Amino acid sequence: MSNATPSKTINEVAYVEVAMPVPARMTFTYRLPAEFAGSAAIGCRVLAPFGKRMLTGYIVDVFGTRIPEGGPEPEKIREVAELLEEEPLITSEILELTRWAADYYASSWGEMIKAALPAGINSSVEKVVRLTENGRATGSDAKKPIRGIAKKILDLIAKKGPTEIRDLEKHFSSASVRRAITRLEAFGLVTVEAIKTEPIARPKLRKAVRLLSEDVPEDLTPQQKQVLDALRLAGGEMYFTDLLDAAKTGASPVQTLARRQVLKIYTCEQLRDPLHGDSWGIEPEVTLSVEQSAVFNRLSEAVAADSYQTFLLRGVTGSGKTEIYIRLMEKVLAAGRSSLLLIPEIALTPIFSRRLRGKFGSNVAILHSSLSTGERFDEWRRIRSGEAKIAIGTRSAIFAPLERPALIIVDEEHDASYRQSEAPHYNARDLAVVRARNADRIAVLGSATPSLESFHNARTGKYEYLELKSRIGGRPMAMAELIDMRSVFRRFGKDPVISPALASAIEETHRRGEQTIVLLNRRGYSSFVLCRTCGEMIKCTNCDITLTYHKSAQRLSCHYCGFYREVPANCPSCESEYIYFVGEGTERVEEMLAARFPKIRIARVDRDSVRRKGELDRILLAFGRREYDLLIGTQMLAKGHDFHSVTLVGVISVDTGLGLPDFRAAERTFQLLTQVAGRAGRGNLQGSVLIQTYYPEHYALKASVKQDYEQFYEREIRFRREMGYPPFTHLISVIASNKDVQVADKTARLFRQALERANTEKICRVLGPAPAALSRLKGAYRRQILIKSPNRRKLRTVIEEALEIAPTLGCERRFLEIEIDPIDLM
Ligand code: ADP
Ligand code: ZN
Ligand code: ZN
Repeated sequence: MSNATPSKTINEVAYVEVAMPVPARMTFTYRLPAEFAGSAAIGCRVLAPFGKRMLTGYIVDVFGTRIPEGGPEPEKIREVAELLEEEPLITSEILELTRWAADYYASSWGEMIKAALPAGINSSVEKVVRLTENGRATGSDAKKPIRGIAKKILDLIAKKGPTEIRDLEKHFSSASVRRAITRLEAFGLVTVEAIKTEPIARPKLRKAVRLLSEDVPEDLTPQQKQVLDALRLAGGEMYFTDLLDAAKTGASPVQTLARRQVLKIYTCEQLRDPLHGDSWGIEPEVTLSVEQSAVFNRLSEAVAADSYQTFLLRGVTGSGKTEIYIRLMEKVLAAGRSSLLLIPEIALTPIFSRRLRGKFGSNVAILHSSLSTGERFDEWRRIRSGEAKIAIGTRSAIFAPLERPALIIVDEEHDASYRQSEAPHYNARDLAVVRARNADRIAVLGSATPSLESFHNARTGKYEYLELKSRIGGRPMAMAELIDMRSVFRRFGKDPVISPALASAIEETHRRGEQTIVLLNRRGYSSFVLCRTCGEMIKCTNCDITLTYHKSAQRLSCHYCGFYREVPANCPSCESEYIYFVGEGTERVEEMLAARFPKIRIARVDRDSVRRKGELDRILLAFGRREYDLLIGTQMLAKGHDFHSVTLVGVISVDTGLGLPDFRAAERTFQLLTQVAGRAGRGNLQGSVLIQTYYPEHYALKASVKQDYEQFYEREIRFRREMGYPPFTHLISVIASNKDVQVADKTARLFRQALERANTEKICRVLGPAPAALSRLKGAYRRQILIKSPNRRKLRTVIEEALEIAPTLGCERRFLEIEIDPIDLM
């Protein structure tokens, strides 16, 4: 591999330090068998025993024959089972970044490294049960007291051959499998072996054919001639199956020619391309506007200066930020250097990625959560080998193995999807700044609606502020208007989902031959089911959340844990038959629109409608080609799409967002509406935005209608300062969760005590424990403690100390989830 790799190899390595993908804040020392001693290096993976399992760990240090001081005793050290590669997979830069992240987010280094690598590359060890000679001979001979599950297992293995224990556990409980196997082993009927399985992600190999010499023998059959002609036409080299297609023959003439050494059949690797070779054509070069040029020049200068600096670029939607990013990456590439562009989840539109492929060809690699494991693996390897010098991707692409990229850009930096919401937690936007700083490079955070934190950093001079004030070509911003649903309600006496104003705008837009986007932040058909007799709402049995009705699937389902049930005919609590559906979801609004406007072609985009891989791309591309007139969907639609003939955006309801028990609710609503408004009128046509609400006087709504970021910022920052919220304080959320409510309560209470002992100087404010906003989730009760302090370092010290004290009080670490800088307090 051509990337710089950590070069610390010692010939007589005997011990290595390994980060294991387990929730522990420490690394582990292992002994290396002599056969690997010469080749083990920092950044290589090993397969090593951990407890009773075999896990893939990552070498983070190599020692000579002496264990460093303070290390474990030699007789306690276990041996590495296998060295998985000789060339380090993980670069030193990524090791450093993951270590920083694990430290900062109080999580495991090994888990962070695992999150940084493409999925599916680890081998694992499975235990396999097979019959012994004896077992084959006797089978389930009745003389032996083998009954019940043991007998069933024996029969199964006799029929199917060697079987993984994991597969047996699909049929029986793991405890009974364990008992049965022990018994069968004692009778000498089966043996259990550990077998290493192949990783899921592997290079894709294909058979190919190459012409060996031009001197062709005379005595060829017509079919053999066809084969040679086809091969020559293709330049002498082809995939095997392509050759058969082209020559219209079967395999045998090819094989005969191979035996006669006219051609050679071999295997080669085929890289999987997420875009399947598709590109969107090259676009005419545009001339940067005066504003764009100023920003571009300042950033080019900073890239050339090659020292750390973070920029915040605020530019309204359609002001040409993306164009600047592309120019910068182009310039960096021309200098033979690499760059990284992060985009939010979902926002990597199919059109955008094809455009980039058109521009940068195989220099660009795309890392995106909807790629298949194999595609991701291949794109990752193209970056690792240095073939692709531009990496574009969502959250985890912050760990793309580029070598000290000259430029890291975070588009829509305010977006919540940069936050990894499951352990190990991290925020890719913040890591971008750290990565740039470590490598002495520049980071650019861009947004039309920067997060309060970033804008505050710009105000205080921590980031350099750049601005694009106007839209390209002086296109006016879309006109946004609030529709006061209270007065609509008063006039009609019931809750009209689509106000007359929105309905006629949709009709009008369609008549002009233009397109509409309708946004609604709720999927499903209706948001909950209510009994009119007793007031009971039907909730999930595992979570403290109402179930959503999905009409097409004919069932109620939980959006948090996936639980679902049939729609009951009667109320489960009082048996009344008057149950009804409240609150509209995308599915229902789609139905209403379709009934009302039969001529309008409607497509829906939400997590239910685009579950199939490629479906989202298909719908968006079709909408881009104007095969639909109206697109309805959740916030998936709010980001990044650049549809030139969309002139109307309707927002059905924003109030659900504002009602969330979260200090960021107003910020989120403002951002969402401003982003959405940016979707209207991106071409030469004037756009309009209609927002239905029951709180038209809310400051977040008023500011977003005017697209006035600063007005919103001033108001919101005052609220944050007064209430002691970020960016003025730093937050840590600790959730104690357990299926047993008493254990959850006790864990939270004990951790609070540990915090009090750690917080002797009273530097932090500790709030709670209290039931979390989602007080029950996936069957577990959740209690939350919030810790606040203006001093980030002291806050970290307090939490570290509390984590050390906690076990001495009997508080179990594994029931606690610590989140540093939580994005939402759910
Ligand atoms: P943003 O990322 O700020 O939303 P884009 O970079 O996507 O803005 O630009 C909006 C639209 O304007 C795009 O269709 C883009 O191709 C076009 N555009 C950008 N810069 C120019 C320019 N200098 N001249 C003409 N068109 C431009
Ligand atoms: Zn649930
Ligand atoms: Zn009832």
